[in-house]
Amino acid sequence: DEVIRVRNLTKVYRNGTQALHDIDFSAAAGETVVLLGANGSGKSTLQKCLNGLVAATSGSVNVLGTEVTSANKRQLTQVRQQVGMVHQRIHLVRELSVLTNVIHGGLGRAPSPRNWLSATAKKAQREEALEALNRVGMAHVAGKRAEQLSGGQQQRVAIARMLMQRPKIVLADEPVAALDPRAGRAVMDMLWDITEEHNLTLVCTLHQLELARDYGSRIVALRAGSLDIDAHISELADHQ
Ligand code: ADP
Ligand code: ADP
Repeated sequence: DEVIRVRNLTKVYRNGTQALHDIDFSAAAGETVVLLGANGSGKSTLQKCLNGLVAATSGSVNVLGTEVTSANKRQLTQVRQQVGMVHQRIHLVRELSVLTNVIHGGLGRAPSPRNWLSATAKKAQREEALEALNRVGMAHVAGKRAEQLSGGQQQRVAIARMLMQRPKIVLADEPVAALDPRAGRAVMDMLWDITEEHNLTLVCTLHQLELARDYGSRIVALRAGSLDIDAHISELADHQ
């Protein structure tokens, strides 16, 4: 039941930067993995290889049974639909309501005032969006404009929007780096609960080792593009 299987993955960017070197990495359904590593160690590149945003130079990237490196457009769309992303920078459309932002996550395209006018939300979509907002504790701000929310609230809304996609895998890239510690912890708690509840595979990059200790069942660390550590948190504690 491996949903991610990466073999001998190497990425050299066009300018010659070797971002990943011979990476082997797998994750099972429902597993949570914390991806650690200094800036520039290749964490983002690895995540982007998983959904084909970055093309592997060599090696194999299999996600949910699809070989991403040789996938056609339709297969790639299918993979991306099942892989939810949470970013450090939160991309909500500021001037639209929270509810509208979340509904458009389910429609699979960025909302703009224009396509919003043409696409009257169906009742079911509104209900599902409200349910997702409720799940992240944000139903009470559904009618507010996104720009009126705090950073932590916006990240919760972004997670609700991502849930509308009904992903099987969640890739979170420094999801709490821009938040204060308390808000960050609350967002992490929620992300953990939700992925567990739906048996989603979570691959979450963090740079705070403290957070990784609390949340990482399994720690994968990159160093200068190579896999440095792949261990359960309890094993790591033993080695210190
Ligand atoms: P790919 O091999 O995936 O097509 P490219 O090597 O073409 O990627 O780079 C994509 C873009 O990112 C280019 O426009 C490049 O200039 C830009 N870029 C270059 N260096 C960096 C960097 N260190 N971080 C982020 N983007 C960069
Ligand atoms: P991390 O997420 O751990 O900070 P990245 O995957 O962003 O690491 O970057 C790994 C290495 O690849 C770095 O040296 C970075 O500058 C380089 N890099 C990232 N994106 C590009 C790009 N598009 N083009 C060229 N080099 C890049």
